Amino acid sequence: MSIAIREVVVDIMNGNAAMIWAGKPSSATVVRRFLEFDGVGQKIATMAANTLVRDFRIPVSDRYSIDISVDVQVRRVFARMGFVSENASAELIIYRARDLHPEYPGIFDLTLWELGRTVCLPTRPRCEKCRWSELCAYAEEVGADT
Ligand code: SF4
Repeated sequence: MSIAIREVVVDIMNGNAAMIWAGKPSSATVVRRFLEFDGVGQKIATMAANTLVRDFRIPVSDRYSIDISVDVQVRRVFARMGFVSENASAELIIYRARDLHPEYPGIFDLTLWELGRTVCLPTRPRCEKCRWSELCAYAEEVGADT
């Protein structure tokens, strides 16, 4: 999650915008309410909904519509792990995450983003330090110990 998204959510919360999550809504309702803000697209709306649910523990009736938010980190790690091809579109990545975990596709978001920022680096992934190396196609191919 980017700092900017977190700040947006905090601003909204401080602005008493609790109507966004009033009444334990479905995740689709929360995402749709974010989409009603000017300039907010699908990626920002799902990131904001994910932040509310994951970080602020806002109660929702389901998590089905909280998708993965595709960025460069998520894309790289998801591809290296073998879930999608290197050139997969954002839509394909979103649907792959839905396929893997339909109850909460966005559950992968923060883990992949942090991996991409810390160990699954663009040019030299540090597979020997990665807790997911035993599940990773790239690590299996090149050898995680190398
Ligand atoms: S094992 Fe290596 S390539 Fe796979 S996710 Fe971890 S750091 Fe990335």
